[in-house]
Amino acid sequence: AMYRAKESGRSLYRISDEQEDSALRAFVEVFGDGIERGEFELFYQPLVDMRKGTVVGAEALVRWRHPERGLLPPDQFLPAMMGHRLAVKLDSWVRGEALAQQKLWHEQGLDLGMHVNVTALDITQPEFVPRLRADIAAAGNESTSGFTLEILESAAVADAARVNSVIEECRELGVNFALDDFGTGYSSLSHIKDLRASTVKIDQRFVQSMYASYDDFALLMAILSMARAFDREAVAEGVETIEQAEMLLLLGCSVAQGYLFSRPIPAADFERWVADWELPSSLRNTAKEYSS
Ligand code: C2E
Ligand code: MG
Ligand code: MG
Ligand code: MG
Repeated sequence: AMYRAKESGRSLYRISDEQEDSALRAFVEVFGDGIERGEFELFYQPLVDMRKGTVVGAEALVRWRHPERGLLPPDQFLPAMMGHRLAVKLDSWVRGEALAQQKLWHEQGLDLGMHVNVTALDITQPEFVPRLRADIAAAGNESTSGFTLEILESAAVADAARVNSVIEECRELGVNFALDDFGTGYSSLSHIKDLRASTVKIDQRFVQSMYASYDDFALLMAILSMARAFDREAVAEGVETIEQAEMLLLLGCSVAQGYLFSRPIPAADFERWVADWELPSSLRNTAKEYSS
């Protein structure tokens, strides 16, 4: 709406745009105050290595504990924030929180990679890398080798040269990049080659429709072989069934994330989950068969 209001000179649309703008302004104010009031929380979803049967990391996913509307998932507030500086502020809070949590887990003997989502607007700010360096220093985190920033493939492609130079600078900090929701939108598989991220996160769509659509199955195989050819780690998102997990193992994709293992959960629940978790027994046999 912000952009549409600027572009639209037509009076027909002006009234509704102005209404939308004032609604957005009100929203932005509540949102900003929400950050100050500490209403945002991180939930963590495990990343598991299905071949090894181990938990390898966590993705931090933001939630807004809204005083009136309850616990809100990101699709109920992030789209309105995109392109706004408050999204940058929120992401910076998320990074600090996730780094601190990773360090805390490290101290408890839980060595886990930490994945955090970033928006393109955020990483293309000139102060992004210096701020990240300061965030890492402030968290006192020595194990940032397992810290990964996830950026939407679609957003990374739009500004590939700049994104690549940020990826290079971040590598010096020990911070990795993953291309999120890979394979959707205006995607071309050659983006694996053009963007220097170390990891591709295969969009849930391919995982969830691999048995229903041969085209999606073929694309899934193609993404995995491109990732292998260019030495990128592949992570499958949205794994909900044993059958999907088995097929991924068979195709050589062992790192996965999805409701089959766990939904995103608060940090304390995550710790209990890790302590109890073991690979489903039916997957253990498949994992053994395809482990060479
Ligand atoms: P994403 O980074 O692709 O995260 C995966 C989303 O898929 C999460 O939704 C997760 O809960 C959901 N998911 C995981 N496993 C499954 C599954 O097996 N089945 C299904 N149906 N869904 C699954 P969530 O937490 O609602 O987040 C949505 C999106 O919001 C994220 O997609 C990410 O793009 C964005 N987001 C979340 N937290 C942040 C943040 O701190 N900063 C920024 N910039 N974006 C964020
Ligand atoms: Mg993500
Ligand atoms: Mg994703
Ligand atoms: Mg997504």
